[in-house]
Amino acid sequence: MENDCLFCKIIKGEIPSSKVYEDDDVLAFRDINPAAPIHILLIPKKHIASLAEVKKEDGELIAKMHQVVNKIADQEGFKKSGYRLIVNCGKDSGQEVMHLHFHILAGVKMGDKIV
Ligand code: 5GP
Ligand code: ZN
Repeated sequence: MENDCLFCKIIKGEIPSSKVYEDDDVLAFRDINPAAPIHILLIPKKHIASLAEVKKEDGELIAKMHQVVNKIADQEGFKKSGYRLIVNCGKDSGQEVMHLHFHILAGVKMGDKIV
């Protein structure tokens, strides 16, 4: 946990969030500024600043995050219709919060433009 990290504060409950899924390792909550009808952020409870900081020992956690994406897709009813998974990493991507997060976007047919 990092004291000045926004997402660590959300994990600790110091900042409220609209929770979608939680277990010992991960938390998923709705993005405050959704870019699609369904926009969920999935984060590890361990503070990892970005995808670039993922270490070999985090492998199991990262694999679990992908499993949880599908659990959420099932729970929220978009497993069949599909979703887009986005991870911004570093300044050119526009990463604003330096705590690893998966953007899960769903609920609309998305175009193929990514920039
Ligand atoms: P990034 O640009 O770092 O990939 O994504 C950060 C995301 O966090 C943005 O989509 C932004 O809307 C979301 N966000 C920023 N602050 C908050 C907050 O306090 N609560 C929630 N739920 N989402 C936030
Ligand atoms: Zn953090």
